[in-house]
Amino acid sequence: MNSGKSHKKSALRVNAGVEKPETVNPLLQQKPDKFKKKPLGIDDYFKAILSGDRTLLSQAITLVESTLPEDGALAGELIHNCLPFSENALRIGITGVPGVGKSTFIESFGLFLIEQGHRVAVLTIDPSSQRSKGSILGDKTRMEQLSINENAFIRPSASAGTLGGVARKTREAMILCEAAGYDIIFVETVGVGQSETAVSQMVDFFLLLMLSGGGDELQGIKRGIMEMADLIIINKADGENKKHADLAKREYENALHLFPPLPNGWQPSVMTASALYGENLQQVWQQVEAFLQLTKENGSFEEKRKNQDYNLFEDTIHQTIHDHFFRHPEIKRRLKEYKTQILNRQLSPYEASQKLVEFYFNSFSK
Ligand code: GDP
Repeated sequence: MNSGKSHKKSALRVNAGVEKPETVNPLLQQKPDKFKKKPLGIDDYFKAILSGDRTLLSQAITLVESTLPEDGALAGELIHNCLPFSENALRIGITGVPGVGKSTFIESFGLFLIEQGHRVAVLTIDPSSQRSKGSILGDKTRMEQLSINENAFIRPSASAGTLGGVARKTREAMILCEAAGYDIIFVETVGVGQSETAVSQMVDFFLLLMLSGGGDELQGIKRGIMEMADLIIINKADGENKKHADLAKREYENALHLFPPLPNGWQPSVMTASALYGENLQQVWQQVEAFLQLTKENGSFEEKRKNQDYNLFEDTIHQTIHDHFFRHPEIKRRLKEYKTQILNRQLSPYEASQKLVEFYFNSFSK
């Protein structure tokens, strides 16, 4: 027996082993550009939006919502391109306390409108999402049937920034949706805070959903919100609740009569409906159509849009100046410094702000 040979075959022999490959493809590190997906340009987004591509519409809205300055420039150009293709849609604001049935209503009303040949987009303004991180509107499965319908597009709230910022981004998202061919846009908000005013500034028609038997104080609805409504719907008018809903309808009708008449000539009314069983949706739509006919004929529809445009112009200036100021590196540094001095009572808030603003203005004259 050749002992050398048998030794070679021994299981105890240590083989050279296979060299472990790199976990990351080394080529990727050498030539990153070759492997990177080419970022989409404005034209790509624009064409995709006009052709109704929902995935790219969604990505474009993400771009618009981005707070990165470089995205801001792209988003601005995209919106500029889309503007001439928007403006033909009907914008409907919808509000009411959590649980009143907003999402159920938008789902059934949205499906009803799609049946009539419309395309429906739903955007939300949800001020809670900033504070709680989880949003009141977003944490449940909402509008299940509408969200899978090919003629619908649903987008949850932009969550970053101030209410003003979120509202502005929602307006921009609305323009993109309109360019993508959605002719009815719902902007939904929780009827408990300031966001209704922001929404009423961007819609043509404002719907307030209420419940029977709560009383508006109990429902947390402020008189100001009722005054904004073009139509009040007492929802959940079904089963046992139907007679309570009819009673509430009369109460709210009486309350509405106490409000001064609207300058556009429209008389807001109260209706009962059941979002769950799809009852009275036809009548709700008839009210919206009557409103459109009246306000388009008397010119107040166009007037309102022009005023909204002007307000948007002022808001955008405020926001741009605000962002420019607070992003200025030296301002950021001095803000911290003055904050300490204010907290230590070494400097009054007036003096500090005056100094800072003067510094800001002087930085332009150099
Ligand atoms: P939101 O928080 O205002 O969006 O309210 P939802 O649409 O999520 O509705 C809250 C609850 O009320 C859900 O359980 C719905 O099924 C129910 N709901 C909504 N609309 C109606 C309705 O017209 N009738 C009845 N009986 N229940 C409804």
